[in-house]
Amino acid sequence: MRHGADGLIAIPIAIPVALGLGARSALAGKQLDAADPTAQALGYVHDATTSDKRTDTSATCGKCQLYTGSDGTEWGPCALFPGKDVNAAGWCTAWVAKAG
Ligand code: SF4
Repeated sequence: MRHGADGLIAIPIAIPVALGLGARSALAGKQLDAADPTAQALGYVHDATTSDKRTDTSATCGKCQLYTGSDGTEWGPCALFPGKDVNAAGWCTAWVAKAG
């Protein structure tokens, strides 16, 4: 005599397909508005060549110690502007030469 296992019930498993939606841009910073009060106070400009305060003509955000953007990208994070990206070709009065 054999007892079957026909009492098993298939239970549907819900897969949360929505995981990750809406989170894609959460890590990317917004571009810093040059009109931001802190940016203005530091003389920040998106294009370093337009600044009349810059004395080192090779100084740009991309070559600044406080810039953490990847080489070759147009915009990247700066320690002075949390959550915002500055232009790699930009500049401000807090510029510090990147070490190395
Ligand atoms: Fe650019 Fe450096 Fe000024 Fe940040 S601190 S805005 S990276 S020059």
